[in-house]
Amino acid sequence: MKKFYFFFLILLPNLLLAENAASVSPDDALNRLREGNERFIAGRNIHPHLDKDRRIETSKDGQKPFATILGCSDSRVPVEQIFDQGVGDLFVVKVAGNVADTDEIGTIEYGTEHLGTSLLVVLGHTKCGAVTAVVTDAKLHGSLPGLVDNIKPAFDKAKHEHPNLVGKELVPSTIKANAFQGIADIISHSTIIAKLLKQGKLKIVAAQYDIETGEIEWLGEHPNQKALIEQAKDPVHGENAEAHETSFFSIPNLIYMLMFLFICAIVVGIILFVAARKVKYATSNED
Ligand SMILES: [Zn+2]
Repeated sequence: MKKFYFFFLILLPNLLLAENAASVSPDDALNRLREGNERFIAGRNIHPHLDKDRRIETSKDGQKPFATILGCSDSRVPVEQIFDQGVGDLFVVKVAGNVADTDEIGTIEYGTEHLGTSLLVVLGHTKCGAVTAVVTDAKLHGSLPGLVDNIKPAFDKAKHEHPNLVGKELVPSTIKANAFQGIADIISHSTIIAKLLKQGKLKIVAAQYDIETGEIEWLGEHPNQKALIEQAKDPVHGENAEAHETSFFSIPNLIYMLMFLFICAIVVGIILFVAARKVKYATSNED
């Protein structure tokens, strides 16, 4: 019994944490970000959750951020400040070009599934250097070519949708397409995220931050979200989201069922054999 209480005590903070994070709905989380950005633009930041008490509280009780943000590493996009949030409010992934590759997706899975944030924002920004490098076909060295590879499909899409634009004119539309590309990459490579979306526990939106005005332009959900969820594949096992919800008639289940029936048949056989022997013994005694 002591062990049970000990187990419960360990589990309790996690249960409370999950409860707390889940209490902020996706729309409430979005409203908090909207309001914070409005304060930032108006120069009326209230700088919440930056005091000593907040540090002690989050250190003792753990983090309960209400939104996960995938943004660009650009120093002109300080995520907490532009949404007027403080310590323990946002789970932020920053990477050049706000791309979603394996490490970013893993971090996002931690923020959404483990910490329970109900909103994920893929945040692009105006005059993004990483996107501009792709559009202008800049010569890149080191590990950068591998990073900007993630942006190329967005550039192709922008070119296709705006055949009249050339060169740098395509930067703004590629930046927006790249935010949606991030969403597509996240969903199609994460059965965890696809499942959370399907269950309505998570909302993913694209947005663009204007580095001059400070304004966030909310771009909404991915137009093909439903199809992306259906196509989602686990990068390790190559399974789609449906495969995790094992069917009752799946091959492993049928094998277990056959084994169970076989064992039942043997047990019934033994019982019948023993019973028959007893009856035979009893009748021979009567004789
Ligand atoms: Zn950028």
